[in-house]
Amino acid sequence: MTTVAVIGLGIMGGPMAANLLTAGLDVVGYNRTREKVDQLVERGGRGADDVADAVRDADIVLTMLPDSPDVEGVVLGEGGVLDSAKAGTLLVDASTIRPDVSVRLAEAARARGMRAVDAPVSGGEAGAVEGTLSIMVGGEPADVEAARPVLEAVGSTVVHVGPAGSGQTVKAANQLIVAGTIELVAEALVFLEAHGVDTEAAIKVLAGGLAGNRILDRKAAGMTAREFTPGFRVDLHHKDLGIVTSAAREAGVAIPVGALVAQLMGSLRAQGHGSLDHSALLLLVEQLSGRRGG
Ligand code: NAP
Repeated sequence: MTTVAVIGLGIMGGPMAANLLTAGLDVVGYNRTREKVDQLVERGGRGADDVADAVRDADIVLTMLPDSPDVEGVVLGEGGVLDSAKAGTLLVDASTIRPDVSVRLAEAARARGMRAVDAPVSGGEAGAVEGTLSIMVGGEPADVEAARPVLEAVGSTVVHVGPAGSGQTVKAANQLIVAGTIELVAEALVFLEAHGVDTEAAIKVLAGGLAGNRILDRKAAGMTAREFTPGFRVDLHHKDLGIVTSAAREAGVAIPVGALVAQLMGSLRAQGHGSLDHSALLLLVEQLSGRRGG
């Protein structure tokens, strides 16, 4: 039986580990806060006390951590994945991190007789729970194929997009589109409310036309109810928009709307809303409009 070590059992990693168990894999979990490990054990997984303990017998190591320094620490740090896993182990990093860091991790893994792919995901908490994530994978073709059974247990769209780091580049484009769309949906909702329109009816008809999109389908009802439990934290989307703006600058590509939304996300965070769902951009639109919000 394939043993998968899952490191980072948060909003995304927790349900992904649960889906790996459902697929019949042997799952060992490790998380900084122990409580989340205990939850995995209650579902039939095995718990580990540290990274080394988790990865020692693993065939595949799946990391789902917040940011580049977290992944670097867990993979490259003392007692980390590369120090502790056996030769041939495949690292599948599903976190959203900087593309250049993914390239460096893949090189470091190869130097230690291991393999690595970057496999960031889209689909949110609901996609993680339902096992329907869209996964953009960067790496060597043989390694991507080796990762596929695990990725198909947590996602329904798994696409190899190029060499190491490419998955992260595609994910950055994903985050650009999502942030821009949330901002426009937020502006439309505040606009509709200001005109006293029945927003529920408006969302229904908008979703059926050219303005239809997944943010309207999945987030608009929560936004009108001012329900901003994450989901996807503002802190994390702020991190992703930093990746997008610097990668665009490196490539010499202008992303004026993306740069503006990056500023708005940063402002929302600076106002103390970093732990809310990213759909809380609506609060900022309200505030800018002299309505409630903030
Ligand atoms: P999260 O809820 O904060 O989960 C991250 C988990 O990693 C937490 O449980 C945290 O433990 C754990 N952790 C942090 N550092 C660790 C370490 N050194 N060793 C072990 N565990 C550690 O974040 P998330 O929403 O699941 O996001 C994870 C990644 O997926 C991010 O890169 C994010 O951008 C990406 N992503 C998220 C979504 C989404 O909708 N949420 C969608 C697509 C992609 P604690 O319990 O101690 O905090």
